[in-house]
Amino acid sequence: MSEQKCSRAGCQQSSSNLIIWRNPRIHKQERTKTWGACPEHLDYLVDYLSQRNFFLEQVEIEKEDQ
Ligand SMILES: [Zn+2]
Repeated sequence: MSEQKCSRAGCQQSSSNLIIWRNPRIHKQERTKTWGACPEHLDYLVDYLSQRNFFLEQVEIEKEDQ
């Protein structure tokens, strides 16, 4: 699995969590979008989506030892 960058604009950090969301006005029921979020922006992105009722769930990315 490739490293996913944080979805916050301008942020170059790698994600620690994935955020699953859907805009019910433009997405069908089974269609979801996935954002990456670094620890710093996780709360921001969840809040952003929650306020619009787009937020579905967040998933922690398990880091593999390298
Ligand atoms: Zn970030």
